[in-house]
Amino acid sequence: MTDGKKRGLQDYAELCHQIARDKGFWDSPRNTAEMLMLVVSELSEALEADRRGDADGFREEIADTFIRLFDLCGGFEIDIEAEIEKKRLKNQARPYKHGKKY
Ligand SMILES: [Mg+2]
Repeated sequence: MTDGKKRGLQDYAELCHQIARDKGFWDSPRNTAEMLMLVVSELSEALEADRRGDADGFREEIADTFIRLFDLCGGFEIDIEAEIEKKRLKNQARPYKHGKKY
């Protein structure tokens, strides 16, 4: 189920953060380490879903991972589109395998 709207990354950051605010998750200041670990916990849930062979669950947990990251970006006022573009250009200018073995 979707609302049919096309959104950019920054739109998702603002929307996911607003939803988290509306649900009370920002009523008090957030701890950065906790927020990062909540992202990791969603990746762990994705791993467990994959281990069960639960493809729908796997996709949902990957979505949860992005939602947590978007909330973090919105809450910490990170312009994620600009940051990704800056890093993409930086990576593109780096040597093959970034000069490393793997
Ligand atoms: Mg989850």
